Amino acid sequence: MFIRQRVQKILNELPYNVELVVAVKTRSLDEIRQAIEAGAKIIGQNYVQDAEKIYQVLDNQVTWHLIGHLQTNKVKKAVTIFDMIQTVDSFRLAKEIHKRCEQNNKNMPILIEINSAREKQKSGVFPEKTIKLVKDISGFKSIKVMGLMTMGPRTGDPENSRPYFIKTRKIFDYIKNLNLDNIEMKYLSMGMTNSYKIAIEEGANIVRIGTKIFDKNWEDL
Ligand SMILES: *Cc1c(COP(=O)(O)O)cnc(C)c1O
Repeated sequence: MFIRQRVQKILNELPYNVELVVAVKTRSLDEIRQAIEAGAKIIGQNYVQDAEKIYQVLDNQVTWHLIGHLQTNKVKKAVTIFDMIQTVDSFRLAKEIHKRCEQNNKNMPILIEINSAREKQKSGVFPEKTIKLVKDISGFKSIKVMGLMTMGPRTGDPENSRPYFIKTRKIFDYIKNLNLDNIEMKYLSMGMTNSYKIAIEEGANIVRIGTKIFDKNWEDL
């Protein structure tokens, strides 16, 4: 199958309330174009500098989500490119985004990234610290918390991810029920190529898929 067919198949199979973010790291402009022509509406970038290169060419056709870790020294640029930042995991980062958005007269929707499996090398806030972080940043008027994002463990049986998706969903529901000012718990971004079906079963309404769309050798078993 070609990129176009793969994207269309995924879009057709996703439940109506689930949005596809096409994860495009390492992919060429031509590959990304094919995905967009097939109907992809949201492009997920890991690096600000990668987005910068193609955003000029493809802007207007799609919206842009940052799904990779964001360093504070890249925030200034990031807020001019992205429509959503999915990877906010510290007060310091949130504060910088707020500051830069205020200067640009922008309001940035963000997701809080949770390190749901508490993996040392990964970014994301630990589950037990999430609620405090959300409360602490709710006062920043130029950003709006709109939900949570998590990766879950990357390797092994995708079923291994399920408990982490469940945990993230529980935190999501808890925060939603707090009805905090300036917080709108709407999006739960969980699941990648090997785990997105499980993530949807556990409540994801944004899935981030790359390999299954772009990798010719990937077969859906
Ligand atoms: C690469 C990436 C994905 C997509 O992973 P695949 O296994 O290629 O589908 C999703 N989310 C993030 C944050 C990524 O870096």
